[in-house]
Order: sequence, then structure tokens, then C-alpha cells
Amino acid sequence: MTIVTRFAPSPTGYQHLGHAYAALFAFAAAKDANGRFLVRIEDIDPTRCRPAFEQQIYADLAWLGIEWETPVRRQSDHLDAYRDALSALEARNLTFPCFCTRKDIEAEITAAGGAPHGPDGPVYPGTCRHFSTDERQSRIAAHEPHAIRLDMEAALNETKALTWHDLGIGERLAAPEKFGDVVLARKDTPTSYHLAVTLDDHLQGVTLVTRGMDLVEATDIQRLLQSLLGFDVPTYHHHPLLLGSDGKRLAKRDQSKTLKALRDEGVTPDDVKLMIAGMTNA
Ligand code: GLU
Repeated sequence: MTIVTRFAPSPTGYQHLGHAYAALFAFAAAKDANGRFLVRIEDIDPTRCRPAFEQQIYADLAWLGIEWETPVRRQSDHLDAYRDALSALEARNLTFPCFCTRKDIEAEITAAGGAPHGPDGPVYPGTCRHFSTDERQSRIAAHEPHAIRLDMEAALNETKALTWHDLGIGERLAAPEKFGDVVLARKDTPTSYHLAVTLDDHLQGVTLVTRGMDLVEATDIQRLLQSLLGFDVPTYHHHPLLLGSDGKRLAKRDQSKTLKALRDEGVTPDDVKLMIAGMTNA
């Protein structure tokens, strides 16, 4: 079987060493196995993504000596595909429209005296799950903005115990219930991160998903979506996150030096690889 890996950045800022590590990790996993390496641009959030950041991603990757297949899949070009996958789940009554605002959800949680904390934040209290079909239809007809959520209980009733395999961690039993009724389509776009990633990894024939440890929990929900949609299950390899000298993970919002800035200072791709090696062996 040909190994297919991918690097799936969101063009919401300039990339730093953590992105270089993730990209080189995925690229090496493909090359070492004579496999294929893909880049996917995860730009479903129109408020945060910028074409200039996307262009810089390509420039950074090329500078690092990474080669990828073209055309690159850009998620914003495939909204219809996400809509279709969503419709398939809707037709099986596995979803419901959610009209809540962030404030409504907070108020409901406060009134209930709290909510369990899931990987994406407090678990949705289920406010809109019990609406009648009539109520849903009339609110949609009135153009009330709404997200689409997975009905977690209904989804779990359709699946058996699910596992996935990670080359580092080993076999893992998925526990998607900790997400509650996760959002599958946001109010402003007909998908969410989890749905888009699951569908794309399937459509692109990705066999080995490599990404940072911060997404380990996300794999449980993506595994559930794979099962509901009848997709093959890739192997996973979640790698450690690079930490700065303060012991905190590098993040776009921090002052961590961007690859662009390092390059402008005269740092070479080999220097970058040495810096990463120093940080991962620490
Ligand atoms: N787009 C995600 C990010 O930039 C990565 C998604 C993934 O690798 O599954 O964090």
C-alpha cells in the first residue's frame, strides 16, 4: 500500500518552527516509505484566513526543500462536498439545527450549574436538540442563523466501540462522547474543522495522518465521523509539539519567530532543521 501523508495548515498567520516541524515530519513519513505527500489549505474560516498567508506557506515549504503534489486542495473550493456529506447525516436524523448564540449557551450552562469540559470547551447543554420538527422548520424558514450539530446520542447508537491506531501511542479506544453534540457546520460556513478534515482525508486517500499531539482528542470525533460516513480509517502519528524556551508550545499568536523572519535574518533551512532537532531532543 502506498503511504499518503499530508500537511494541512490554516492560512491564518505566518508559520513558525512548529509548522516547519509538522511539515517536515509528514514529508519524511511519505518519502521514507516511497509514498506521496500532499498539502491541504484549511481555509474554511473566511474571517481569519488570508491569501497572503497561503502564499507564504508555499514559499516556506519550498524553502525547506519540501515537494508536494499539485493541485493543492483548498477547503474553501469544496464547500459543496462538505454540504453533501452533511446532508447524508441529516437525512439519517443524526444532526439538528442549533440556533443558540454563544451567550445563550453560556446562560444555559450557568443556569444548569455548569457543564462538563470537552476537548473543544464546555459541552453543549443540548438546548436545541429537543425542538420539534415544526419549530426547527419555522425558525429555518424565518432565516434564523443556525449551526448544524451532530446528535451525539443518535450517532453513538449507530456505531459500535471504535478504535484507531497511532504509531507513537498505539491502539486507542475512541471516546467521542466527551465532545457532546459537536458542531458539523458553523453558522457562517457549511462545514466545521472536524467534518472538513474527515472528508478531505478520505477523498484525498490519506493513509497516514501526522499532526501535533494537540489534535489527539480530535481524532476520536473524526473516527466517529469516518464510521458514520463509511470511510476507511487511516493510521495516525501524533507528534510532540515544539516548546519555546519558556516551556510553552509555540503558537502563532505569540512572538515566536516566523520562518519568514528567520529566513530574512539569514538562517538557512539546515539551521532550521538543527533548531528543530535541538528542540525535539531536549
Ligand atoms: N488545520 C489544522 C491546523 O492548522 C490541522 C488539521 C489537521 O492536521 O488535522 O491546526
